Amino acid sequence: APEKLSDIVTSFLDIVHDRLISDRRGTVADYIPQLAGADPEQFGIALCGLNGRVYESGDTGVDFTIQSASKPFVYSLALDDQGLDAVHDRVGAEPSGEAFNSVKLEAGTGRPPNPMVNAGAIVTTSLVTGRSPEERFGRILARLSAFAGRDLRVDEAVLASEQESGDRNRALAYLMRGAGSLTAPVAETLDTYFRQCSVLVTARDIAVMGATLANGGVNPVTGERVTSAETCQHVMTIMATCGMYDYAGEWLLRAGLPAKSGVAGGLVASSPGEFGLGLFSPRLDASGASVRGVAAAQQLATRFGLHVLHRP
Ligand code: GLN
Repeated sequence: APEKLSDIVTSFLDIVHDRLISDRRGTVADYIPQLAGADPEQFGIALCGLNGRVYESGDTGVDFTIQSASKPFVYSLALDDQGLDAVHDRVGAEPSGEAFNSVKLEAGTGRPPNPMVNAGAIVTTSLVTGRSPEERFGRILARLSAFAGRDLRVDEAVLASEQESGDRNRALAYLMRGAGSLTAPVAETLDTYFRQCSVLVTARDIAVMGATLANGGVNPVTGERVTSAETCQHVMTIMATCGMYDYAGEWLLRAGLPAKSGVAGGLVASSPGEFGLGLFSPRLDASGASVRGVAAAQQLATRFGLHVLHRP
């Protein structure tokens, strides 16, 4: 009997999973103490099709904090609240060629280079509408949850650890305040940013989040319209050019998909009009991306000819 498509997809995810499980390169992030305790062997691969079906291999139900993989989704909210031009006045759209925590700001304006590095994400968070920090974070959590298709929550222990060890982010925020590119109060903006980074997700959740972007803003599992197709296009553009920090260029060359990494080991990628990919494994490479996540995404993209610039 002919194999079902779902079996074929799942067995290919299993093959990639099995192939990469012996890859123990990289190290678990420890600059946020609470992240250092993660089990480095965990590895999950999830793929969500635009029909809402999710295919999974390995540890796809394990909770981890979303970290920087929150940035594209919060950017979508800032874009919807303020419009592209108003957001772009405050945070640029140029790859920095530097690490996620780079202090590089635009000469003259003090504007952060893009919304995927920490400096740019902190400004982006400050641009989300809300009358109070509670309301602003409530809207961020609701947006992340709508992308994932279920109610997400904060890991309070990671949040406390981020707040304790967040001096570099605090320094970035003060620099931008001094330069005039951050106008909101530092303490509450950082509290909101740390909270957004501490939201718990699974590989399955971020696959659905990526699929919602790939689907022009409609969550393929819940059917809810989360944002506009135009916003998704803007977000995926920034992910393609800046999502992998100083690895962004080589990433686009090899995987060819808009993507975003997080230091807890999550990696979300979107194949526009096709599917979302959610990867999780805690050991990170020098750019702060999951070693196995990067390798798995590249193998899947190469195998299926998924490069966004691919023309058969
Ligand atoms: N919360 C982390 C930080 O601000 C996020 C960094 C990341 O995931 N690259 O340092």
